[in-house]
Amino acid sequence: MEDTIAAISTPIGEGGISIIRMSGPRATVIADAMFVSKRGKPSLFPTHTIHFGTIGSNGDLVDQVMLTVMRAPHTYTTEDVIEINCHGGLLIARNILTLCLQHGARLAEPGEFTKRAFLNGRIDLTQAEAVMDVIGAKTNRAQSAAVHALEGHFSRRLEDVRERLIAIIAHIEATIDFPEDDIAPDTRTKWIADTASIIAFLKQILATADEGKILREGVAVAIIGRPNVGKSSLMNALLGHDRSIVTPIPGTTRDTIEEAANIRGIPIRLTDTAGIRIARGEVEHLGINRSRKTLDSSALVLHVLDASRAYSNADADLEELCRGKPSIRILNKADLPKKLKLPAKFCEEKAISVSCLRGDGIEELKDRVETIVWSGKSASDRHDVHINERQANAAERSLNYLTTALNDMRQSADQAIISQQLRVALHTVGEIVGKTATEDILSKIFSTFCIGK
Ligand code: GDP
Repeated sequence: MEDTIAAISTPIGEGGISIIRMSGPRATVIADAMFVSKRGKPSLFPTHTIHFGTIGSNGDLVDQVMLTVMRAPHTYTTEDVIEINCHGGLLIARNILTLCLQHGARLAEPGEFTKRAFLNGRIDLTQAEAVMDVIGAKTNRAQSAAVHALEGHFSRRLEDVRERLIAIIAHIEATIDFPEDDIAPDTRTKWIADTASIIAFLKQILATADEGKILREGVAVAIIGRPNVGKSSLMNALLGHDRSIVTPIPGTTRDTIEEAANIRGIPIRLTDTAGIRIARGEVEHLGINRSRKTLDSSALVLHVLDASRAYSNADADLEELCRGKPSIRILNKADLPKKLKLPAKFCEEKAISVSCLRGDGIEELKDRVETIVWSGKSASDRHDVHINERQANAAERSLNYLTTALNDMRQSADQAIISQQLRVALHTVGEIVGKTATEDILSKIFSTFCIGK
């Protein structure tokens, strides 16, 4: 890696401090040209030390800063790294970055620091991806899973799979020149058992893909119900704070409102379709269309009814709208005298009685949401691995090659053919950790990173 890269690593805007990061062979030399301190020049500072001084050029003072020197190889990128902590003003950080560029650094591409950490072998591809997952995690559960991957838990298990595969291939290839009769039956049995156990592992890993998607992207949940039944109140109860304005006037919230909630560690994107009214007229039609769209893009619907009022046609219309979708019927205002009687075709026991006013039934509702979201998903240890789409795709392809190889082994097919299948499987498993990743794959992954990471 010839050039030295630089970027502002903190969010753009005003704050306590901003950090400018440089990595590459000229990082300390560039710092020498910009940093003034009584203690001397950065290139003479011991590694992993931090120093107070000023940044400036040709007599122009930019800021008082703390400068950290970290020399290769024990750094984020394994290269020489300089980090400059300046005051958190947009202009200051920009001016310091400009100075770095003027003295010979190049502006880093998105994710380039992490890409270097990967290309220099400090982390594998699953760990690089985990960096983004850690940054983007919306709940503690998602964050805990990501940090486990960052620590290399997943990498070690995949490395183990690769080693076992290599051992089987080596063994099979050593017997290629022997006639079929010379291969002891228990040797073949061992190949079969080892391959089957790798297949079982990959299946287990693949079963975590749905969970991974849920933890990374969240689950879209729509709240529907006719005006004044308590949709905004429910949204607030689930969010745990007052965000949308609760109003006693029917239908005052015209548009849909989306909020991020955390229900039992699941990132939830809650949409309150408060403005949607099932009634006659042009505006209402638009409302119904919008309502349909919201429902289409939701994984779960919360249909709110007012238990203190009689069941109406509008309730029935909405019921019709969410047919075929996973939904929960919520009977709100349980604190008032009950007037609602659900039509006989609905099983009343399945509905949840809540009072958003008093908070009754909200915990039960959260339990129900959790059960529905995780139903049919892997029952694995939820703090362990959660693979992403790219990893799942490679795991699936590996699984296909391994299954073919296993069948061939059982039918005593030619060893050369079996070993060829296993070699392709090995290559595909290598894709997951980045051992055999192409430049295309790499740029696709790292382009989604933020600048300075
Ligand atoms: P939306 O139009 O469906 O969003 O309904 P809101 O959340 O704005 O609530 C409409 C009215 O019902 C407000 O006056 C709320 O205070 C009231 N409300 C909401 N939940 C409850 C409840 O559990 N019990 C009672 N008694 N009133 C409620």
